[in-house]
Amino acid sequence: MSDIVVVGAGQAGASLVARLRNNGHEGRITLIGEETAPPYQRPPLSKAYLLGDMELERLYLRPHHFYGEIDVDLRLGSRVDHIDRAAQTVSVGGETLHYDALVLTTGSTPRRLPAAIGGALDGVHVVRDLADADAMGPRFGPGAKVLIVGGGYIGLEAAAVAAKKGLNVTLVEMAERILQRVAAPETSDFFRTLHAENGVDIREGVGLEKLLGEGHVTGARLSDGTELAADFVIVGVGIAPGTALAEAAGLEIDNGIAVDSLGRTSDPAIWAAGDCASFPYQAGRLRLECVPNAIDMAECVADNIMGAAKNYVPQPWFWSDQYDVKLQIAGLNTGYDRIVTRPASGARSASFWYYRGDTLLAVDAMNDPRAYMVGKRLIDAGKSPAPEAVANPETELKSLLK
Ligand code: FAD
Repeated sequence: MSDIVVVGAGQAGASLVARLRNNGHEGRITLIGEETAPPYQRPPLSKAYLLGDMELERLYLRPHHFYGEIDVDLRLGSRVDHIDRAAQTVSVGGETLHYDALVLTTGSTPRRLPAAIGGALDGVHVVRDLADADAMGPRFGPGAKVLIVGGGYIGLEAAAVAAKKGLNVTLVEMAERILQRVAAPETSDFFRTLHAENGVDIREGVGLEKLLGEGHVTGARLSDGTELAADFVIVGVGIAPGTALAEAAGLEIDNGIAVDSLGRTSDPAIWAAGDCASFPYQAGRLRLECVPNAIDMAECVADNIMGAAKNYVPQPWFWSDQYDVKLQIAGLNTGYDRIVTRPASGARSASFWYYRGDTLLAVDAMNDPRAYMVGKRLIDAGKSPAPEAVANPETELKSLLK
């Protein structure tokens, strides 16, 4: 295998090229990214970086010179706009590049509000890229009024940063409760209380009818008729996988670029990994939107390009930082029918254990890294402790592993 071209210089793309070289791939590797910054971590964009607590250089996954050192041709500010599958080439900035293997690590794009309800007004932001965070950063002045649309992790993290910086924060969530799509009511309650204590006005079960303003946003009308003033708006209503390039090339799409258990798309010369890719999981397909998946899947694909023939088995985990609370999540809670609460001794700490029948599926641990670690080890090993033992604070966490 000689020429490998990777489209998308984000978390997955950067992990993949490093792994290829580490595995001893000697052929040409080209990593092409639309953004101008070298591959960087996105999680701090709604946490420490937005707060102003993290320098730009610390966002970078590797120093810029690293890619040259491992002989990767990193092309930044370059968008791939076409794949010619028959010729095995991609077009980038008027140039045509040949590939023997092509990897799509195109990530995802944030959903935006339609222009018809004010989504195109100045002062309406999303948080996906460094450029998004840099554009909204200067608006975070004390006393400014921010409206956050969407009560998922990104909206809540942005709300925490804004509250910490002294802004007046209102967050609207159309669903009955914040985090409804991703977490149990217990976790929603925990974070609702935390935000209320920090002065954030959370309104659940209320949609946004329209953003108001001429040119620049000045406020919003909600579905219950309430009108709110806002100096700026942050929209955190989910993302869509970056499938456009793959779709135009006629690759199979199914909630993302569909790959097999090795990470190969419907074209055997093209692979995909990270946010953009859906892979076989249990009886269906799964697409994950998190850093651990981007890294693990990219590394698995790199190994498979070099002939390892390893099935990708995700071991999902995730985290979120809000105020002084670190949430760590192990496993996937899909299909849970019972929540077991385990109290913890520290301030603002607890863990919620998701079960389906007697099977442990996932753990949400708030300021309780030990509960997270034990839960993760149990889930990775396919073990399920008795719910009664988990709920009993007298039970030593470590004893659950036996
Ligand atoms: P990305 O990192 O998005 O990289 C894809 C890259 O491909 C982009 O740079 C894009 O510009 C480029 N690209 C796309 N199309 C083309 C093209 N045609 N030509 C050239 N380049 C192209 N995950 C966690 O696990 N924990 C967290 O706490 C967490 N917090 C987050 C906070 C924020 C604000 C955001 C936005 C995400 C967060 N995530 C978190 C999710 C995590 O960052 C993503 O899952 C991860 O970045 C996915 O990596 P990726 O390589 O698949 O995609």
